[in-house]
Amino acid sequence: MRDARLRRHLRGLLRRLDLPLPLEVGLLCERLGQLRGTPIALLEWELEPTGPSGMLVSRVDEDVIVFQSRTSRAHQAHIILHEVGHIVAQDLDGVALPQPLLRTSYTARDERDAEVIASTIMHRALSMTRRLDHVAQVGGRSVQSSLVLWDGWS
Ligand SMILES: [Zn+2]
Repeated sequence: MRDARLRRHLRGLLRRLDLPLPLEVGLLCERLGQLRGTPIALLEWELEPTGPSGMLVSRVDEDVIVFQSRTSRAHQAHIILHEVGHIVAQDLDGVALPQPLLRTSYTARDERDAEVIASTIMHRALSMTRRLDHVAQVGGRSVQSSLVLWDGWS
């Protein structure tokens, strides 16, 4: 029920963000920040390996996503999308958080919401990128044929 609501909200959001593929998380954060009217800054940081690999610092005029520098690019993308998930879920619930706020602890539901959002974005972007690659390889005789099969983040 809640997952369905999250996914529906996310689908509309992704359509509005209209991101090019393959997905670039930096651009996603940039466009999401523009859409929300609050910029999202990304800060790569050497975090303690035993601690969280990412965190969200919500300030009055910006949200800062801090992410682990000592890990793979793919893992970094997942960390960032997870924190984006917290932002999106908070917006959906209309939660007004005290500012400034460093979020490192969440409820189990919050964590689950963030993971649902992160993995949904990841899976959709990957499957659509694969579809586009397939179109380019198999039927990609012209740009036209790609455009016909590509209907965006619908
Ligand atoms: Zn989290």
